Amino acid sequence: MAKNDKVHIIDHPLVQHKLTIMRDKKTPTKEFRDLLREISMLLGYELLRDLKTEEVEIETPLEKMKGRHIAGKKLCIVSILRAGNGFLDGLLQLVPSARVGHIGLYRDPDTLVPVEYYLKLPEDLPSRQVIVVDPMLATGGSAIAAVDRVKEQDAGEVKLLCLLACPEGVKAFHEAHPDIHIYTAAVDRELNDHGYILPGIGDAGDRIFGTK
Ligand code: URA
Repeated sequence: MAKNDKVHIIDHPLVQHKLTIMRDKKTPTKEFRDLLREISMLLGYELLRDLKTEEVEIETPLEKMKGRHIAGKKLCIVSILRAGNGFLDGLLQLVPSARVGHIGLYRDPDTLVPVEYYLKLPEDLPSRQVIVVDPMLATGGSAIAAVDRVKEQDAGEVKLLCLLACPEGVKAFHEAHPDIHIYTAAVDRELNDHGYILPGIGDAGDRIFGTK
């Protein structure tokens, strides 16, 4: 994959350890879901590293001091249904005041083109920084369509958070949205003919919800 300063691979040992357990096909649904919640907090922590802060005066039990708290745009997490929902618990634990939008997209099994069947975004999106979440950046089709929608609503800064990407997905996504930073735990080897990432984790939705 071409070197790209807009792809952030979060290779912290805790992330890599959890990801390896998630990749293992023997890992049961509940453990997979718990690990996704934990890993989403670690990925979110890195993604939010550049959040703006401002000075605030407080009083400790001993004296007055100037501390810092988060300033600027509020957050909106936009989940690409259904697997994106696996990120919500962890991210909302980090930023409980974030709003949540949902975009329902399914991949046409023949063409692999995303088809939108649901859209609900907060009305005040322009005043919010948006994190679009989907565990798998595979063909890139869903992420491109979701970011298209979010940009149409004039969102503030937009970032894409996924668990796994592949070179084909990164390329397609950045051809459509060269301005958007991608955060991921790994960029895997390749996409197969069925639109699955190799070696990957399998079908993220099925792994999260136990549907297969
Ligand atoms: N979606 C998934 O759930 N898994 C993949 O490998 C690719 C897309």
